[in-house]
Amino acid sequence: MANGLMTVSYIAAAILFILSLGGLSRQETARRGNFYGALGMAIAILATVIGAQVTGYALLIPAILVGAVAGWVLAVRVEMTQMPELVAVLHSFVGLAATLVGYSSYLDPNAHLVGAEKTIHEVEIFLGIFIGAVTFTGSIIAFGKLRGSISGKPLMLPARHWMNLTGLLVVFYLGSVFLGSEGTGGLTPLIVMTLIAFLFGIHLVMSIGGADMPVVVSMLNSYSGWAAAATGFMLSNDLLIVTGALVGSSGAILSYIMCRAMNRSFISVILGGFGTGGGTSSAAAPEGEVVAISAEETAQLLVDAKEVIIVPGYGMAVAQAQGVISEITKRLRAKGVKVRFGIHPVAGRLPGHMNVLLAEAKVPYDIVMEMDEINADFPETDAVLVVGANDIVNPSAQDDPGSPIAGMPVLEVWKAKTVVVFKRSMATGYAGVDNPLFFKENTRMLFGDAKKSVDGILAHIPS
Ligand code: NDP
Repeated sequence: MANGLMTVSYIAAAILFILSLGGLSRQETARRGNFYGALGMAIAILATVIGAQVTGYALLIPAILVGAVAGWVLAVRVEMTQMPELVAVLHSFVGLAATLVGYSSYLDPNAHLVGAEKTIHEVEIFLGIFIGAVTFTGSIIAFGKLRGSISGKPLMLPARHWMNLTGLLVVFYLGSVFLGSEGTGGLTPLIVMTLIAFLFGIHLVMSIGGADMPVVVSMLNSYSGWAAAATGFMLSNDLLIVTGALVGSSGAILSYIMCRAMNRSFISVILGGFGTGGGTSSAAAPEGEVVAISAEETAQLLVDAKEVIIVPGYGMAVAQAQGVISEITKRLRAKGVKVRFGIHPVAGRLPGHMNVLLAEAKVPYDIVMEMDEINADFPETDAVLVVGANDIVNPSAQDDPGSPIAGMPVLEVWKAKTVVVFKRSMATGYAGVDNPLFFKENTRMLFGDAKKSVDGILAHIPS
């Protein structure tokens, strides 16, 4: 492919990626945004594969086919609730790829750079491998934590900040040895640095508690972008630099937005220790009476209400109750009940999780409100349905300064006249914190799988 055509294709792909990010920022345009992204990626892959630099087709084509089939099968099979795990694994691939490209770039027998160019290239390699290796192991640990195969409790090693600092200083020292060596003589410091970076990634995510995982997932997304950008520098591939920078900066912005939504400082998230078991709650286990309610009684409550707010959480995704909830909403609205949805920024297990499910179930966008838009309206609300949500409606975030989730903004559902909580048991949510909401006087518990509960309610609301 001629160089000019390649440049045009790369520019087109970069523009499509930017349009994609723009589209993905709003629910109404998200489908289009996704399409732009996929189209941009198809153009980028095609232009690169048929570009003049690529010759090893015998290896490349089978590798692309294997990757495409694996990606296709995973995408078709994965449940919506497993999406964050999948994203974490994909980030680890980006990290591993950056690490491997770094090594092959360093060992490339055809590279004959000298002077400043050689130094710049080696800095790119060192940085690329470092970020890639941290992303690789960090993402694998995040995958384990999201899946539940590794405990959500933060690992609090003694003197952990000193350990991190010492590790970082050793990495700086190894960097100077690496840059000062001739030929491939820097391989040993490079390998030692990679091992330290692997440990860094593990320690970084192990020391972060359950409740901070949303930020960690988007932070690793950002790292994977910077790792890709570093790879772009190593390979002198402009599109990879642009794409990496887009992913890196959008991930960083998302991490910042999530930190703000959870009232956390970015630095304290990275330093870890927040979340399950991290706090020292001063409150004893909540006490009081738990009052159960039936689906039929809930249906009556809804029909009699003027204003209803539905707060969905992770349990709605597990139960796949969104379709029936949409139907209930339709019927209630037809009867003149004002129904809205309150979405917490970290509800579910990935950013925008609830919005995606509600959009899929065709709930009108204009009744789906962000937490800040709806939080003041609970006192005037007759009935709130908390469908499989727990941490995001936990009043101890406001009342108990010692709670592991203290300071996290929550939806103040308890201020409504009646709150019905749908869940299967009295179990805690993701952050592992008891929830006093279940014991409040105006709370009713509708026990059972959320899908069965909403089916039961629908059966008692005539269309
Ligand atoms: P939670 O995990 O706090 O609570 C979910 C509740 O749903 C559980 O208490 C569970 O109770 C109930 N549940 C599970 N399955 C069902 C079912 N089939 N039917 C009925 N109920 C069910 O979820 P929230 O959405 O309230 O909060 C999200 C949490 O996840 C926050 O702590 C957040 O920090 C964290 N997180 C968020 C991410 C994001 O990006 N959004 C990423 C990673 C973590 P029971 O078992 O009794 O049924």
